[in-house]
Amino acid sequence: MRVSIPARFTMMNRRWTVRLGTDLKKGVDGECRYEHAEIVLRPGMDKKYTEHTFLHELSHCIAGALGWETFNADEGKIDALGGALHQFLQTKTGKLE
Ligand SMILES: [Zn+2]
Repeated sequence: MRVSIPARFTMMNRRWTVRLGTDLKKGVDGECRYEHAEIVLRPGMDKKYTEHTFLHELSHCIAGALGWETFNADEGKIDALGGALHQFLQTKTGKLE
């Protein structure tokens, strides 16, 4: 199942924007910019990788919003959380009634 990436979302009462942008440093595929409340993703990436990159940046956004600075600085854990969220969103089926 494909994961839809939102254009906007709210995290802890702050409105965030998600956009494709070429204003990323070389070798950087996504960025979580707290000062502008935006997640920027490199355009032209494979769909699954774009989804994973978004969820990685969303994990930074959540960790930052919760004040989990040590966790936020741990790229391995952030990426593992993004990957776990990706697996959940890709494989969820049915609806609990
Ligand atoms: Zn990161």
